[in-house]
Amino acid sequence: MLLPQNPLAAGEPSNPTSWLDEIPAHLAEIERAQLRRQRRVTQPGQGAQLWVDGTLMLAFCSNDYLGLATHPALAQAARDASWTYGVGAGGSPMVSGHSVANAALEQELAAFVQLPRALYFYAGYATNTGIIPALVGPGDALFSDALNHACLIDGARLSGAQIHRYAHADLAALEQALAQSTQRRKLVISDAVFSMDGDVADIRALLALCERYDALLLLDDAHGFGVLGPQGRGSLAEAGLTGAQAARRVLYMATLSKAAGVAGAFVAGDATLIEWLLQKARTYTFATAAPALLANALRTSVRLIEQGDALRVQLQARVAQLRAGLLPLCNAATGWRLLDARTPVQALVIGDNARALAAMERLRQQGLWVPAIRPPTVPAGTARLRIALSAAHTAQDVQRLVDALAGIARAGG
Ligand code: PMP
Repeated sequence: MLLPQNPLAAGEPSNPTSWLDEIPAHLAEIERAQLRRQRRVTQPGQGAQLWVDGTLMLAFCSNDYLGLATHPALAQAARDASWTYGVGAGGSPMVSGHSVANAALEQELAAFVQLPRALYFYAGYATNTGIIPALVGPGDALFSDALNHACLIDGARLSGAQIHRYAHADLAALEQALAQSTQRRKLVISDAVFSMDGDVADIRALLALCERYDALLLLDDAHGFGVLGPQGRGSLAEAGLTGAQAARRVLYMATLSKAAGVAGAFVAGDATLIEWLLQKARTYTFATAAPALLANALRTSVRLIEQGDALRVQLQARVAQLRAGLLPLCNAATGWRLLDARTPVQALVIGDNARALAAMERLRQQGLWVPAIRPPTVPAGTARLRIALSAAHTAQDVQRLVDALAGIARAGG
């Protein structure tokens, strides 16, 4: 339930007030707690710049980690495909939406991540909310890291399986829960790169537990695909787990809206398992397929990712530069904490919601766009600046951010 109960209305069936009249008060409550979220109207500028509500900012908020979202080759591929295939897919994949471009993309994605078969969805959110209920249901068991992304959590809830939530990265707790589980069908779900902390799951250890307890592992590599692993093949490839043998126990899911620079997602793994998902994932079967123009842009994107070692080297240099600049600012005086992460997601935990918002505002005044992430997206008391780096950032860009944060730190954090 999203709306809180109105205690005044409880037990008063004759109260003529509609629950709809209470919504403004609930909105005001969110506002008071500084949790009201704002959308901004944006447009890309040069490099990592972004027009935000009409003002040009240097942005550290995009998941476009390789800077491909504005790449001319992707735009050209989308434009070409829109002339060939039209703009809309016109139907679900089972009816008429599975275009030549979508089919080719699936083959290329499977080859790229070195797994037997892939299925291309129109969105990452819909992938997880579709595939989890296709795999487990009431009477089955799910094991979920406490920091998993919302769409893994929602997929878990939708499935109706019993959910065991284990503390973040606590594999001993996971093992205990697996050992105690009496359910035969067990699914472990985990972000591969955690979206708000930027740390990488211990995939080999997760897989070993799944082997031991006859569980299946679903990995969400939204933030690792294109960034980690040889030629950007992702976290699973980085862990050396590819091919038919690995696929028996792992479903590898990744979004195509982040490093790939477009939209959509895919799940890859054992061919029979993928066939099952194709048959049973309701968000696949009952939704219009992703337009071919996106699939075609993604085919180009996969090629650019594969050839993108220089971009990844550049990105890693920015990550190292940012960390070297920020670590000295994390001390007792500021109370800041830079989470340990080697990925482009760098979380500077400030703690208090209002202080995180104030830091974001100070940066905004200096032309720097860094989102403050607050509960419920992150646990209470861990409001943070989520600094997302990209190969599009220059060393000067990162230095500007470090200098600005040093100024805020000097002013007392
Ligand atoms: N998984 C993770 C870990 C994510 O961070 C996100 C989106 N931020 C998604 C899934 C959802 O993907 P999409 O935005 O493509 O729907």
